[in-house]
Amino acid sequence: MRQKINNKSALLPLILSGQALVRETSKGLLGGLKTGLLRDYGTAASLQKLSDDGLMAVKNYREGTFAEIEKINAKVAREKAWVRDFACYCCPLACKKSGVIKEGPYKTIVHDGPEYETGTIFGANLMISDFNGMMKAIYDGDDLGMDIISAGNVIGFLMEAYEKDLITKSNLDGLDLTWGNADAVIKMIHKIAYREGVGDLAAQGVKAVSKKIGQGSKAFAIHVKGMELAAYNIYANPPRALCYAVANRGACHLSGDNIENQNLMAALDSLGFCFFASDFNARIMPGVSKSLMAELLTAITGLDWDSDRFLEAGERVFTLEKMFNFREGFRREDDRLPDRFFAEPFTTGGEKGALLDREEFTTMMDEYYTERRWDPETTRPSDEKLEMLGLGFTV
Ligand code: SF4
Repeated sequence: MRQKINNKSALLPLILSGQALVRETSKGLLGGLKTGLLRDYGTAASLQKLSDDGLMAVKNYREGTFAEIEKINAKVAREKAWVRDFACYCCPLACKKSGVIKEGPYKTIVHDGPEYETGTIFGANLMISDFNGMMKAIYDGDDLGMDIISAGNVIGFLMEAYEKDLITKSNLDGLDLTWGNADAVIKMIHKIAYREGVGDLAAQGVKAVSKKIGQGSKAFAIHVKGMELAAYNIYANPPRALCYAVANRGACHLSGDNIENQNLMAALDSLGFCFFASDFNARIMPGVSKSLMAELLTAITGLDWDSDRFLEAGERVFTLEKMFNFREGFRREDDRLPDRFFAEPFTTGGEKGALLDREEFTTMMDEYYTERRWDPETTRPSDEKLEMLGLGFTV
């Protein structure tokens, strides 16, 4: 239903001040990082940085640094493909890039990749350093309407199972699914999309494929609650690990890596507000503050919003999602990370030797539930918390 704006004369100056703020702070986005500005390189700016820092998903999350990242990073994309920058309506950040493949068998493909997630999952995670092959995989994945994060995960899992001889070429319909083989990956993407042969099983995701293969493959089936991890590796990043473990829809990277950010993300999503333009990660990406968002909301709705109330609305959303999961039978054992992250340290790169400590991680999770006033054993929010948030009807 279309709502009337409550206070139009107050709204315009607020929007202009928000735009000015984002424009101003965008000059400092990712400032000081080698890979340059979000505006110049989009999220692909993080490809080089996170690989250097050992925080990237590489070889089915086995490593955090990709030795050949310089062949697929944002500078290569700018040089080989990108033609122009573009933006959502009126956004001064203009994080989107559009380009064309100029040579080789995929010449003339027009596309807006790679972004950080797509370049990592179809690049580093599969050890693909052929830029044009990676772009073709991203293009086909998008064109076929796939979730590229899940698709790249399931293909990475099959590559590892093949490498470990848990499956053979005949299980893969004759595909030689070795690390870095872009042609085989492109064929597998099509098999998944059309549910052909092994693609029919692969289309069901890592959890289902691992269950079918068995033989201990669960340890490197990279998912939480059946949803595949995003492209940020967690051996050296316990807050992100916690975020993946407790996020309501599975291993989601857009759910916040602490309680306040989880609540903030839920509120931002409810508004349809792009989190790049917010102060979600104020340390490296300053942006529109919670108080300015609350002022905008007040001008639009006529209700009295402030930043505390804004965060509380996010907490209400996050907790309601949690109660939905709880009703459906999800408990603490479902907030579980794959064993790989506690057992096989990185062998190379910026965080060589990094590993999550199971005991420390368990303590961190206990503290998280307690701070949220959820039962650490069952993860159920307390009645008191539910009542406080106006969710008494779920008790
Ligand atoms: S609104 Fe967000 S996604 Fe769109 S151009 Fe701006 S920063 Fe990028």
